[in-house]
Amino acid sequence: MTSATSLRLSGVTRRFGDVAALDHVDLDVAPGEVVAILGPSGCGKTTLLNVVAGHLRPDGGTVEVGGRTVAGDGAWVAPQDRRVAMVFQDFALFPHLTVAENVAFALPREQRREGAARARALLDLLDVGALAERRPTEISGGQQQRVALARALAQEPELVLLDEPFSSLDQATRDDVRGEMIGRLRETGLACVVVTHDQEEALSISDRVAVMHGGRILQIDQPEVLYRKPFCSEVADFLGRANVLDGEGLGEVVDTPLGRYALLGAAHGPVRVFVRPELVGVRPDPAGEAVVEAKAFRGHDVMYTLRLADGSVAWAHRPSVDMAEVGDRVAIEPQPGHAALVPVAWSAV
Ligand code: ATP
Repeated sequence: MTSATSLRLSGVTRRFGDVAALDHVDLDVAPGEVVAILGPSGCGKTTLLNVVAGHLRPDGGTVEVGGRTVAGDGAWVAPQDRRVAMVFQDFALFPHLTVAENVAFALPREQRREGAARARALLDLLDVGALAERRPTEISGGQQQRVALARALAQEPELVLLDEPFSSLDQATRDDVRGEMIGRLRETGLACVVVTHDQEEALSISDRVAVMHGGRILQIDQPEVLYRKPFCSEVADFLGRANVLDGEGLGEVVDTPLGRYALLGAAHGPVRVFVRPELVGVRPDPAGEAVVEAKAFRGHDVMYTLRLADGSVAWAHRPSVDMAEVGDRVAIEPQPGHAALVPVAWSAV
């Protein structure tokens, strides 16, 4: 059974001494929606998961799961009765049980009789049915991850919480497992909250991303909106490099020290805008206006740190073909795309 909202946090606060780990957090997650909670270490991500799972009590506010208040307003529902399943960073499988037993153990009591068949069906769903009789130590990290998710689904939850679920996997495995697991989760139609400090992960797997800082959600939006129109500098910076430039609005375009860009919205006169590094092209040119000060080669792409004539620094993110070298003088060539106006609230957070 699902309600219109699988998870609702209203004004949730949780303190540890002087630290507000959660500071009046509001969050709604719809059935079938994948929401990533993204933020730096210590911003409150784990506390949020623990409050939802019932491992911590909030000091204020309410938590609703599937339309039922599970914490706050005098209510308290124990973790095992919340219909919330959590997949931990280290998967937390029982080492002495087989894969199938790990999953069967999590089934609701009334399903235990046909436990083996149900466990097998869930393992098949996640493409690890063939490993049913092995122990967790006899399978790879990516396979353990799938088993952990099968175990979470066995609980027939309303909501699945994933705590940095892919961080212990190596890069190649991570990309594969991540795409596939989130795909399988989507097929189930369950709501899912994923905690991560990896911005690329958050942007690539979720319907909406909530960026946290200091116990608060600064902005929650679709990945593209967050990336292109961040509400404040913390959000902008957390999602990657940002060139913040003073420019001159000319209606639907803006002139900046990095050239002329189309503008999201329209403006006239002095403005401050925000240009992502992939909109900044560079071409080696002895008469160019910038010098390559540093270069971070990342395989298929490269991030240049550029020093401009006025002494300021800018970033350009380019495919790693025909690379400029450190010390080269380059001309800047604006690429198609939009600069965004920096909101008035930009520096107020
Ligand atoms: P990380 O990414 O490093 O896991 P996080 O975003 O999950 O960090 P939390 O673990 O939720 O952050 O911590 C939020 C704040 O609350 C931090 O300042 C942390 O030091 C503090 N905190 C968390 N748990 C406790 C605790 N049990 N006792 C005291 N302070 C705590």
